[in-house]
Amino acid sequence: MVDLTEEIEGLWPELRSVIEGVARSGRFINGPNVQAFEEEVADHLGVRYAVGVNSGTDALVIALRSLGVGPGDEVITTPWTFFATAEAVSLVGAVPVFVDIEPKTYNLEPDLVERAVGPRTRAILPVHLYGHSADLDPIMAIARRYGLAVVEDVAQAFGGRYRGRPLGSIGHAAAFSFYPTKNLGAFGDGGLVATNDAAVAEKARMLRAHGARRKHFSETVGYNSRLDELQAAVLRVKLRHVAERNEARRRAARIYAELLEGVPGVTLPFEAGYARHVYHQYTVRIAGGRRDHVRDRLSREGIEATVHYPVPLHLLPPYRSLGHRLPEAERAAAEVLSLPLWPEIDPELQARVAESLRTALHPRE
Ligand SMILES: *Cc1c(COP(=O)(O)O)cnc(C)c1O
Repeated sequence: MVDLTEEIEGLWPELRSVIEGVARSGRFINGPNVQAFEEEVADHLGVRYAVGVNSGTDALVIALRSLGVGPGDEVITTPWTFFATAEAVSLVGAVPVFVDIEPKTYNLEPDLVERAVGPRTRAILPVHLYGHSADLDPIMAIARRYGLAVVEDVAQAFGGRYRGRPLGSIGHAAAFSFYPTKNLGAFGDGGLVATNDAAVAEKARMLRAHGARRKHFSETVGYNSRLDELQAAVLRVKLRHVAERNEARRRAARIYAELLEGVPGVTLPFEAGYARHVYHQYTVRIAGGRRDHVRDRLSREGIEATVHYPVPLHLLPPYRSLGHRLPEAERAAAEVLSLPLWPEIDPELQARVAESLRTALHPRE
C-alpha cells in the first residue's frame, strides 16, 4: 500500500546526522528538538501554538479536554473515519453523535451537522479524510451560532488546504498524527495539538505532562503524552520536504485519474473547489457490489488495495447501540477501495494497477 523505504533512503544522510546528534546529546525528552519542531511546525501551519504529544489519538483527547469537553457533553462527528476520532470523544467522557457524510468528499455534511445540534452539544469534530478538507466555513458558522468548539482532525491531511488556508489553522484546535504512514510521518508514534488560543495551548501543555505546569505540582489528572526528541528531530527534517512530497502525491493522483478516466463502474476521487487535496489515500468507488471482487483480483496479482473503512463507526460494537442509520457512510463501506499511492510510486506500477482494475471489472474488453 505504502513504501516508506525510498523516502528514508533519500533523506538518510540528513536523518542519520540528526538521529546521531540526539543520541550523543543524551537528551531524549523535553530537549531542543521538540521546542524547535513546535516553532517550525506552527510557522508552517500559520498557527500561534503547537504542542507535541505522543500520538494523533492523544492529540484529539488533549485538544477536546483543553477546550473543556467532558462528561455529559455531545460531540458531533463523522462515522466515516478511523476509529480514533470517535474513541477520543468517548475517552474524555463525552458521547459522539454521528451524522452522515457528503458522498463525494466523504466528509461531514454541514446541513446534517446543524440538524444534530442539541442542548448537550459542546463541540464539532470534522475530519479531513483521505487528505481532502471538510467544508469548514459552514461548520464554523454553525459553531458560532450555537457557541460550540471545533476540533479539526487533520491526521490524514498535513499540508492540505481549505480556501487557501492550511488545514489545522481554522478550528479552535486541531489534532495531527505523525504515525509513520501519514503525510508527515515520524519513526514511530507522534502527534500534535495546534491552536491560536493561548489558554488552550497552555492547558494542552499541562495535560500532556501529568496535568502539571510545573513538574511535581500536578493540578489535574493528565497524561504521559510527550513527543520525544528523536521523533522531533526526524520530523524537523521531514517537515522541510513535506510540501514537495505532497506535490508528488498530487502528481501521482493525476496519473491515476488519466489512467482510470471513463472506466465504467469506477468513480474517481473528487476535489472540491475549496480544497487542496493531499491524497493521503487515493480512494475510488466501485459500484454494483463488485468492490470485493476487484480487491481480490488485485491481491492475486500482488497489488495491495485496502478498504478504508470496512465498517462505519456507528455500526461497530462500541457505538451500535446508539442506533444511528447513516446510508451514505454505509454505502461507502460497500464501495470504496484505496489504491497504492505514495510520493515516490513508479508510474509503471500505477499503470499496472489501473490495468488490473480495468480487467477485473471488464474482462472481455
Ligand atoms: C491516524 C488517525 C488518527 C490517530 O492517529 P494515531 O497517531 O495513530 O493515534 C486519528 N484520526 C484519523 C482520521 C487518523 O487517520
